[in-house]
Amino acid sequence: MKRVCCILLSLLLLLPLCALSELNEEELEIEEFDADATPAPAEAVWDFPVALEDMDPAFVVLANKHYKLDSSFVPDPLVKMKQRKAAKDGSNKNGGVLFASGGTYKLQETCAKALVEMSEGARADGYKLYLKSAYRSYQTQNTMYYNRLKKNKGKDDGWVSQPGSSDHQTGLGCDVVPRSWRDKAMNGKMGKEPECVWMAEHCQEYGFILRYPADKEDVTEINYEPWHMRYVGVPAATYIMENGLCLEEFTEQLQQAIRDWLDAGGDRSRVEKFIQTPTEE
Ligand SMILES: [Zn+2]
Repeated sequence: MKRVCCILLSLLLLLPLCALSELNEEELEIEEFDADATPAPAEAVWDFPVALEDMDPAFVVLANKHYKLDSSFVPDPLVKMKQRKAAKDGSNKNGGVLFASGGTYKLQETCAKALVEMSEGARADGYKLYLKSAYRSYQTQNTMYYNRLKKNKGKDDGWVSQPGSSDHQTGLGCDVVPRSWRDKAMNGKMGKEPECVWMAEHCQEYGFILRYPADKEDVTEINYEPWHMRYVGVPAATYIMENGLCLEEFTEQLQQAIRDWLDAGGDRSRVEKFIQTPTEE
């Protein structure tokens, strides 16, 4: 008897709760069907200086310590750079890119073509550009990184990127140097060479940016590299270079624009491929 009473009492206590939840459901239903209660969202506006259709998600991809590329990531299509040997007098009679060493260099196809154009543009202005490094696979970067650590007794000095975080793995990053630096160890002093001054001034016309500017070391977490060119496409490159940004800052702005677009009810399928999220440390 006592047990039955208990059950009855609990049921009585629960009743108001049930009624309340029913009421809530009802309220929700009313809101759902009352079209006048919530005004239709204003049409989303792409409020970013570079139009979506002027960017290729594959070309604005960010690779760094916090946004690592997968170990299986390989640029597509990856092409071998045709070697154009400098003539004995150092001229570049054949046009195209001169090679700092006899190695085989690979780059993403669009980037490779843009580099040849930039090289020819430089030549027309009287400068010869030498390609010293291009695409590096995850595995190559891995070997380089651990060799460097070993050499530095385990200390990461910031000169060799961790595997997955190298811009060279994108196939859109390349090291371009003046003739006088072909066989020298590279450092920031190279930035004063006329070839590097020319590149800093004209790279965006060919879709390239200076990936690691001198005044952005705290943002890129990479030392100044006047030789490291990164292809992003002309519109993005123009915006980045004219506003003195680095790719990290551009990415931050772009991701914010994407969030704003989605918040305003913009079509997700138009921005989906541009979304980048930090990888786990
Ligand atoms: Zn580089």
